Amino acid sequence: MSGSGNPRGPRWEIAHVLARTDLARLLDELATPGTYNIRGRRWHCPMPDHDDHHASVTIHTDHRGHQRWRCWSGDDSHRGDAIDLVVATQRVSRADAINTLANRAGMIPDQPLPAVTRKPTPTARRNTALDPAVVRYVEACEKILWGHTGAAVREWLHGRGFDDALLRANHVGADPGRSMMPRLRGLPHGHSLAATFPALDPAGQIRYVQARYLDPVGSDKYDNPAGSLGANPRLAWARTSDGRATPGVLLVTEGIPDALTAAEAGFAAVGILGSQAPDERVAATLARSAASTSRSLVAVIDADPAGRAWGNRLGDLLAEFGAGLAVTEPPTGGDLNCWARCDTDWWQTLPTPHAGPEVELSVSDG
Ligand SMILES: [Zn+2]
Repeated sequence: MSGSGNPRGPRWEIAHVLARTDLARLLDELATPGTYNIRGRRWHCPMPDHDDHHASVTIHTDHRGHQRWRCWSGDDSHRGDAIDLVVATQRVSRADAINTLANRAGMIPDQPLPAVTRKPTPTARRNTALDPAVVRYVEACEKILWGHTGAAVREWLHGRGFDDALLRANHVGADPGRSMMPRLRGLPHGHSLAATFPALDPAGQIRYVQARYLDPVGSDKYDNPAGSLGANPRLAWARTSDGRATPGVLLVTEGIPDALTAAEAGFAAVGILGSQAPDERVAATLARSAASTSRSLVAVIDADPAGRAWGNRLGDLLAEFGAGLAVTEPPTGGDLNCWARCDTDWWQTLPTPHAGPEVELSVSDG
C-alpha cells in the first residue's frame, strides 16, 4: 500500500455520514418493521442469525447525538449504529458500508456536503419546567387527605399498608374529583375520587404527580398532568417516615406505590414511572446515585413477563454505566405492595448487597 488514499474510494468522516443518515428509515429498508405501540417504534432484529419474532429492536440517540439501534433479546452483540447495521445485513466491509451510506446520503467527493438529516427529537428529552399549578394541586390534595373529605382515600391507603407518617413524608393526597375541586386544564382530570402520589426528587421537592383513581374507568388507573404543565421525570424518590434508610441498598420499583411500600419497610427507594421501558437517562441517574451513596441496586419487579422484561432492560442499561443490578420478584406473584401485604417480613429474602452470582440478572434469549 502506497498510502496514496483509499483504493475503494474517498474516505468519508464517519460523523458526517451518520449525521446524514436517518436510522429509522434505514431500518425500514434493511429490517422488518414491527408494530407501533406506546413504547415507540420497533423492528425485527436484522441480525441474520436471530429469528426474532418479537420485534426486539428499538432506536435511541446516545449522549453524543448519534442514533443507535439495539436488540433487547439478550444478545449484547446485536446493536450498533447505521454502519454496523449495513455491515451486518449486507455482509460488506466497514469501509464499503460507509461508502454505501455516503452515496445514499448524496455525498459526492469534492462537492460541498449535503444538509444534515433532521431527526425527530424524542418527546422524553423535552425539558419542560414544572408549572407551579402542579405543586399547588399537590398541596391542595395533601390538605384534603387529612380532612373529612379525605377519609375514603385515607382508608384505601391504609389498606395498602401505608401509615400516616409515611403518607405525610411523601406528601400523598386525596383528589376529591372535579365536581368538588375545579382545576386548571391540564391537571389530572378528576372524574372521580383519587389518591395523589407526587414524584419527589432526591431532595424531597415535588417534581410531578400521578393521580390514582380508586375506582378507575376502563384501564386507566393513573392520570398525569399534561405535558405543557411539566415533563414526567421518570424517577420518583420515596422518603422513609423518619428520613433514615437501611444502608447499602437502593430498591428500584415499578411506580410510586411500590416505592412507598419499600420506604415503609425503611429502605431508600425510587420508583420508575411510566409504561415505557427504562431509558439511558434513567439508568445514568440510578448508576450515579448508587455510586455516590455506596448503595447496591436491587429491583423488585412485578412477577409477570412484562415485569421480567422490564428488569432485564434495566439491568442491561445499568451495565452500560458500569452498575450492577440484582433482581427479585414477589414469590407471592403480583407486585411488591401485594407481597408486603401477604408477608410483613418480605424484605428478609431480598438479595443482600454485594451478593454473589446467584442473584445476578440472568438474560435469556427470546
Ligand atoms: Zn437480535
